[in-house]
Order: sequence, then C-alpha cells, then structure tokens
Amino acid sequence: MMENEVYDLLIIGSGPAGMGAAVYAQRAGLKAAVIDRSPVSGGQVQSTYEVDNYLGLPGLGGGELSERFREHADRLGAVFITADVLGIDCGESGQSVYTVHTDQADLGTKAVILATGAVHSTLGVPGESALAGMGVSYCATCDGAFYRRSTVAVVGGGDVAVEDAVFLSGICEKVYLIHRRNQLRAADSLQKKLFSLGNVEVCWNSEVKEIAGTDMVEGVDIYDNQSGRLSRLDVQGVFIAVGIVPETRMFRGLVEMDEQGYILADETCRTSRKGIFAVGDIRKKPMRQIITAVADGANAVHSVQEYLNL
Ligand code: NAP
Repeated sequence: MMENEVYDLLIIGSGPAGMGAAVYAQRAGLKAAVIDRSPVSGGQVQSTYEVDNYLGLPGLGGGELSERFREHADRLGAVFITADVLGIDCGESGQSVYTVHTDQADLGTKAVILATGAVHSTLGVPGESALAGMGVSYCATCDGAFYRRSTVAVVGGGDVAVEDAVFLSGICEKVYLIHRRNQLRAADSLQKKLFSLGNVEVCWNSEVKEIAGTDMVEGVDIYDNQSGRLSRLDVQGVFIAVGIVPETRMFRGLVEMDEQGYILADETCRTSRKGIFAVGDIRKKPMRQIITAVADGANAVHSVQEYLNL
C-alpha cells in the first residue's frame, strides 16, 4: 500500500469485473491496485456451483474460475490490498486526484474503477431474518451440504434459483422451486436441466408468505396467486435466490445512479464524474454475466488510459 504516493488507478472490488480491469491495467503499465474487503477474490462467482457459459472454460466450478482469474492477475504482478473502502473524496484541486478512504489508510489516485458488485436481495417475509443461518440460506453451494437427504425449497425463477435447484437436487431428497409466475426467467439450457430432474417440483404462481419454525426451519407457507389457496411445504431448508442489489450506497452523491442504485455509465464505463468509472454488476446494463463483467473491466481501463492521456 503506497500511502504517500498517488496511484494512476485504484480498482475497488475483486470480482470478475475488477480482476478483468486489474489484468488490463497491468498490461497497460499503470500504477494500479485492487482494493477488496475480502482477501479471497471472485465476488459472487466464488459461490456459483458451475459456470457453463464462460467462453473456453465450460463447466468450471465458480471457485475454480475465480482462482484462475486471480492467478492470471497475480502472474502479471497485480497488487491486491485487503481493506474496507469507506468513501471517496474528490479533493479540492479540481478533480485531478481522488482520495479513497479505507479502514487501513487514505490512498491518492488519479482514477478509480468502481467494481463492488452486488449482494443478494431478501424476501422480507416473517421468519426470514429470524431463521437466517437456521435453515434460511442465500448460498446453495455454501450451505447445501448441510441438507443431505433433506427436503428443501428454492425461491426465485432466475439463473441463480434454477442453478441452485439443480445443484441441490444432487444432494437433497426433494427440492421445491417456488416461483411467483408461471414462467422462469432463467436461461433455456438451465431450464432444460431442471425439467430433466426427477426430484424437483416447481410450485408455479406461488408466493412465500412465511418461513415457519421455532429454532430451525420446519416449513414454508406459500400462497397460490391463481387459486388463492394457502398451503404449507414441509422443508428443512429454504434457499432464497430472488435477485441482487448493487453495492453502491457508499458512492451516493459521487456519481449518478438510477432509482435502484445502479450506476449510470455506457460501455465506455464512464460515470457522470470524470475519472470515476463503473464496471460489472453495479453498472446499469441489460446483461449481467461474468463475461460482460470482464469485458467492462477491459473497456474501463481503455477509458482510464484516454482520461489520463496515456
Ligand atoms: P434475476 O435474474 O433478477 O432473477 C430474480 C428472480 O427472483 C426472478 O425470477 C424474480 O421473479 C424473482 N423475484 C424477485 N423478487 C422477488 C420477490 N420479492 N419474491 C419472489 N420472487 C422474486 O436474479 P438472479 O437469478 O440472482 O441473477 C442475477 C443476475 O446474474 C442476472 O442478470 C443473471 O442473468 C446473472 N447470472 C448469470 C449467470 C450465468 O451467466 N451463468 C448465473 C447466475 C446469475 P420474476 O421473474 O417474476 O421477476
């Protein structure tokens, strides 16, 4: 960590977008560093069971893919700093040098790439927070092994929910997939896999009303929004996969965002503030995939070079 020097570029976050940026920054010869609160790089990918659509590496586990990204960045000499970023100051002399405040030190930099990614959304139903860690989970690959030969429910209809249901079907006796509509949002290839499994039952048009249990999850109450029927599924685990929320709270007021907190930036990754760039899941864009996050990292470094007149 160079407390008294000024970096060309600080990258905040070490998911695929941040690590993509780190690789391109090293190749561009920038004096750069990646800051992440976790010493383990990878972001959301780390807890993905299997990634089947990253070009050239089909079927790799998310953990292994993250490790490969990190090894690539390390091989090029990328610098990783473990610290919690608290905020960014624009400095008084125009916007030529930013100060990134962390819980370890304050760091000066000419440009910043924001790559903080996203965290899971919650359902907000009774029982959810009280039973978190006691049968309620947001990560099937982290917690799935605790539910060997049990019956569990997955909530959601996107890529993550379907991937989780497929993963859990290999461990659990039975998996319910609870989705609020009659159509899944997940990729067709994932749906095909899901529908080929004998121990997965989809509860269509179903909304979770409550997660029941005293010390541990004992069941989930669902409401069929077509028939109006309420019913209880006896399950020991509930895996919630109902989307993501961008981790951009600490950048409010610094750059323009939409009402959901996604940072407004086009493919050049330039934000409303000169010298600050946004990449990956925090950027407002139509496709949030590993491959598009990595591409953002490359595009952003190109824009940083233009900004620094290199
Ligand atoms: P997502 O695609 O936004 O899907 C969220 C799902 O949760 C939707 O089916 C949604 O229902 C449902 N939902 C949202 N709020 C709900 C609520 N309050 N109650 C019940 N259901 C609710 O989110 P995701 O699956 O977490 O994926 C996040 C992003 O990562 C996506 O862009 C996805 O494509 C990407 N991803 C990519 C890969 C890959 O490339 N292999 C893997 C995982 C994720 P509706 O359908 O009714 O809106």
